[in-house]
Amino acid sequence: MSLAARLSDPRLFRQYAYVNGRWAHSEAGREESVIDPATDEVIGRIPVLEAAQIHAAIDAADAAFAAWRALRAEERAERLMAWRNLMLDYREDLALIMSFEQGKSMADARGEVEYGASFVHWFAEEGKRAYGQTLPSHIPNAALGTIKEPVGIAALITPWNFPLAMITRKAGAALAAGCPVIVKPASETPFSALALAELAERANIPSGIFNVVLGDAAEVSQILCNEERIKALSFTGSTRVGKLLLEQSAGTVKRVSLELGGNAPFIVGPDMDPREAAMAAVDAKFQTSGQDCLAANRILVHASIHDEFVTHFTERMQALVVGNGRDSETHLGPLIHAKAVEKAAAIVDDAVSRGATLVAGDQSEAPGANFFMPTLLTGVTSDMMVWREENFAPVAGITPYNDDDEVITMANDTEYGLAAYAYTHDIRRIWKLLRGLEFGMVSVNSVKMTGPVVPFGGVKQSGLGREGGPTGIDEYLETKYYCLGALPSVSGS
Ligand code: NAD
Repeated sequence: MSLAARLSDPRLFRQYAYVNGRWAHSEAGREESVIDPATDEVIGRIPVLEAAQIHAAIDAADAAFAAWRALRAEERAERLMAWRNLMLDYREDLALIMSFEQGKSMADARGEVEYGASFVHWFAEEGKRAYGQTLPSHIPNAALGTIKEPVGIAALITPWNFPLAMITRKAGAALAAGCPVIVKPASETPFSALALAELAERANIPSGIFNVVLGDAAEVSQILCNEERIKALSFTGSTRVGKLLLEQSAGTVKRVSLELGGNAPFIVGPDMDPREAAMAAVDAKFQTSGQDCLAANRILVHASIHDEFVTHFTERMQALVVGNGRDSETHLGPLIHAKAVEKAAAIVDDAVSRGATLVAGDQSEAPGANFFMPTLLTGVTSDMMVWREENFAPVAGITPYNDDDEVITMANDTEYGLAAYAYTHDIRRIWKLLRGLEFGMVSVNSVKMTGPVVPFGGVKQSGLGREGGPTGIDEYLETKYYCLGALPSVSGS
């Protein structure tokens, strides 16, 4: 059955771009197909917009900006809450769209819808608290202070691994701050973005405030980066493309926020129960089939419990069911496309050729061309691709270590600095790891670490800025300082 036929509301499946409150074809008639990675079948077609149509989206956002920023924060919050409520009302449809285009299991997709909606809820509240400050004046008879103002139009460029939540984490903040947005989703997963546009319209978010443009990624991004009227660029994706966009934004001195790749270490202390730690490590590695910037790529286990840990990890990993995301028993869906499968195979071959042991992962059991069976390598060393690169596949690598100083050096041996996990109950070790690990986020004894309250982001080449949390809205606000001079002097309190 086609995707549209399976939706409770087929109008959520849109095969257009969304510009200025209208559904748009490509003016030149150019289109591309979107593929279901589980079956390689075409789900639908989307337009490839012309440059003039991207400029039209910028014009529309510019024209809509004044009225949107003039609304009271409370009025923007009401519309954002309506948008969030619609996401939850249509959770099942949104999850189905996501599972079709991204491949993830329905359980993961439902979780992402809730996670995505939680950002809109959070920022609807945060917008009401975008406080300025009153400053004690050092100038006689003057009043000094700051006002928070929306920065202007925000361009949001997002990846395919979290097709909905990476949009709402940005758009929730920008819209609450009073900024119009132009979203450029990954061409692999446009339908989640377009469903969000349909729901934004139903939530009374005005024309021109939430736009979704589609087209050649490099061409569209260049237009957005070069445009003077776009004041903020927020990107989630690979470090390679992030660097390119940072360079391209220099010409117009934009506010740039980057959420880039990760290469998370997962450290297991000698005091841990190896079984408990192995269960957690499997959870931290294989979500979204390993295509997750938080995936535990480098599992570092104290030598004293290494062998037992490997046994439990292997058992648990092999119990994961690989299949079509719409089958209720599936844990791991396909990878996004054949190139990702090729890369995963190359990473495994590279590791084995450099001396790693392939403990499990028989690819002849894969249920289709884009699937990769969960794979475990032991004896992983720092010269291997599986250590150096963000593998973005269900390939886990385990390395033993002997003491805390050694494991901190090993964990930090990467250009990335997004997230790290540590499993130990020794408070002195916890503190040492927490302070020694060069990562933007460190999670101790918990796989789950994300949520709307969290300042999500990385250090080193994992990015710039923080999304969500108490400072997430600041990416879309300017601080205007004022000095009111020559005031009458006031006595008393
Ligand atoms: P990607 O960098 O290939 O693509 C991201 C976006 O950039 C897409 O919209 C894509 O169309 C666009 N793009 C691609 N090439 C471009 C170019 N030459 N010029 C301009 N735009 C271009 O990344 P991806 O493969 O879609 O996503 C996976 C990456 O995203 C991983 O590195 C992952 O770690 C990262 N990620 C990071 C976070 C985070 O919060 N730090 C979250 C999710 C994903």
